Amino acid sequence: MKIYPIEEWQIRETEFDIETNYRDETIFATGNGYIGMRGNLEEGYSGPPGTTFNATYLNGFYEEYDIEYPEDGYGFARKGQAMLNVAEAKTVKLDIDGEEFDLLKGKIHFYERVLDLNKGILRRKVVWESASGKKVEVEIKRIVSFPRPRLAALAITVKPLNFEGELKFTSRIDGRVSNLTRSKDMRVGAGLKGRSLITVENKVEDTWAWIRQKTLRSGLSLVCAVEHSLAPANKAKVLGYASKDTVEVRFELRASRGASYTLFKYISYFTSRDYEENSLVDSALEEVKKAKKDGFQILEKEQEEFLASFWEDADIKIEGDPAAQQGIRFCLFSLLQSTGRDGKTNIAAKGLTGEGYGGHYFWDSDIYVLPFFLFTRPEVAKALLLHRYSLLDAARSRARELRHKGALYPWRTIDGLECSAYFPAGTAQYHINADIIYALKRYVEVTGDVEFLWSYGAEMVFETARFWVDLGAYIPGRGNKFCFNCVTGPDEYKALVDNNAYTNYMAKMNLEYAVEVAEKMKRERPADYGRVAGRIKLEEKEIKEWRRAAAHVYLPYSRKLKIIPQDDSFLYKKRLPVDQIPREHFPLLLHWHYLNIYRYQICKQPDVLLLLFLLREKFTLEDVKRNYDYYEPITTHDSSLSPPIFSILAWEIGYEEKAYKYFLHAARMDLDDYHGNTKDGIHAASMGGAWGAAVYGFGGMRVYPEGLHFYPSIPNQWKRLSFSIKYRGRKIKVTVEKNRAHYTLVQGEALKIYHFGKEVLLNPGATVSRRIPSRRKAKTFLCKGA
Ligand code: BGC
Repeated sequence: MKIYPIEEWQIRETEFDIETNYRDETIFATGNGYIGMRGNLEEGYSGPPGTTFNATYLNGFYEEYDIEYPEDGYGFARKGQAMLNVAEAKTVKLDIDGEEFDLLKGKIHFYERVLDLNKGILRRKVVWESASGKKVEVEIKRIVSFPRPRLAALAITVKPLNFEGELKFTSRIDGRVSNLTRSKDMRVGAGLKGRSLITVENKVEDTWAWIRQKTLRSGLSLVCAVEHSLAPANKAKVLGYASKDTVEVRFELRASRGASYTLFKYISYFTSRDYEENSLVDSALEEVKKAKKDGFQILEKEQEEFLASFWEDADIKIEGDPAAQQGIRFCLFSLLQSTGRDGKTNIAAKGLTGEGYGGHYFWDSDIYVLPFFLFTRPEVAKALLLHRYSLLDAARSRARELRHKGALYPWRTIDGLECSAYFPAGTAQYHINADIIYALKRYVEVTGDVEFLWSYGAEMVFETARFWVDLGAYIPGRGNKFCFNCVTGPDEYKALVDNNAYTNYMAKMNLEYAVEVAEKMKRERPADYGRVAGRIKLEEKEIKEWRRAAAHVYLPYSRKLKIIPQDDSFLYKKRLPVDQIPREHFPLLLHWHYLNIYRYQICKQPDVLLLLFLLREKFTLEDVKRNYDYYEPITTHDSSLSPPIFSILAWEIGYEEKAYKYFLHAARMDLDDYHGNTKDGIHAASMGGAWGAAVYGFGGMRVYPEGLHFYPSIPNQWKRLSFSIKYRGRKIKVTVEKNRAHYTLVQGEALKIYHFGKEVLLNPGATVSRRIPSRRKAKTFLCKGA
């Protein structure tokens, strides 16, 4: 049974239920990459505690707190950062002739809420009867504007159905907000205690109002402004109220039976992260006044246009499988809603939709989400990398604090500070450095934007290479190979291990890339090279060191099992197949002590398997299959980052049912609430992974140095899969049917691509169709392997 009806472009809810309200608030969240509003009811919610969390977030707007360790240690992360729940502005209380419109009181005759993925608007319609029998139809539209990143708008229409009387709209900005401090789940709730934002000033005048708030510690401030209009106009008495923490604008009017009254509320947020402190009020007011002048309809139209262009580039069409279709569209839409596009922000693990993981950015951004943007909206991928560049100084300081050279990116952060309080699954995940460089390398390969490399990327590549050389050591017991000891790989069910295969391979990639970039830059852009080398005091002998270390990185391999052991000790632990663990023990991290997890061959998520996918050209299909067969039975998928990678590899191997199941799992992770924690926010990495499973998995796309390869085929359940990708200034549309694939060069100059290893020339505007070889001809089905 699906939670929401299956519809291709919509998420619909037909009943209001306090039992599921908390989760629904996440699903019906609206955002634009900067502002994120949970799907809280505008009129307020009077249900029991624990069934709601009312929040609005601004990407990158945070408060600091001290991380307290009863047993402290040198170099532990000292301060945390948490994305703040900011002044609440989506509230508009409705007074229906003396009775409060409240879904928990009175009677609901009709209820429907729809998130329209195509138009980017949230709509709710309710027919409600008050305790004394007054019936109203209430219709509410909410837009968080994509083209105007600092603006949101509401249109609230009330129609008395069986009476005439007094109607009051009380629109509010409420400064009394705080984040969740505690939860049974350690992944939820920040270290903030009580309120972090204090209200310093506010004002109400005429139909507008604003409030200024300041954080207590991080030194950031924000202004939230609202402006209103009523239709039909001139009918209402307008009253303003201000108290210490709240401002209200109230519209009182005499309403006739059968007539409709709409209050438009325009909301803006401006913060000192982006603007001069003393310009915040003016800017915020100007934004809402302009929106009022333009009107809600214009905002709706702009939103539709923005989304039409987004879907034109980003849509994945799955014909014959509406559940998969709905799932993948919800993923892509949610990614757009959550991702910062300004170079100053990134994508939090839960987007802008909930309290999970404190609004922190992880490697999820670089490895799981960025590829989606890279191939559909490369300018967003660039902005995400620019944000990583802006954190380079902080990464250098962190490396120095740990007495390392170069730069060490934080495992989890908002503004560059390492915020992970549990270093075994935090700072020890050094692979974050290589993950960022992997994303950067892909960005340059796919866009051809070498200017980015010369201006920003090279410095990141060199500083991270410096770090790896400093972290590793030539170990005699390992034949003098270059080893990385005491690290944690992607699988968080192992920690502080020696020679995690993923880390070693990715560090090698990072080092090799540093050598390649340095050599190329010296040849092609000597002045730029001089500038960067001068700034970071790079010496020639360091490049030699990178080359030497890269050539000698220890790459674990078990001859006996013909697999890659996850790390040096992994194969010497007791193997614990997942099907031997009682169901109620999952996720293990909430039910087992870490010591008992670390002791076994049991994985939270792909580690070696992720490596095989990311560096696919280095391995054969036999490698993939053997490792898959080894690791799958011991993977719990306790991390939502797991299923999409399994889907991609399973499909390639020919485990078709599994691949499909894993894909559906990733694509519908939140819609079906597989992990039971959607209430705390969406799973952004899984959503990015779902895109990957469609495009790399079924679409069979691989990017090799000579160009773009496709090995497409679709599951039995599907009739047709189509998607578009951007590659080196081109846009290519790929359509996959049961027996044929069609490639259309929609934009850009002619390009040679590869279909099952054979060259295909794409000419502008033309479509080329090719047969898909049968799976039985296994050899031709494979991606190439070294
Ligand atoms: C995963 C990490 C991930 C984090 C945030 C954890 O459960 O193990 O790989 O970065 O969640 O999504």
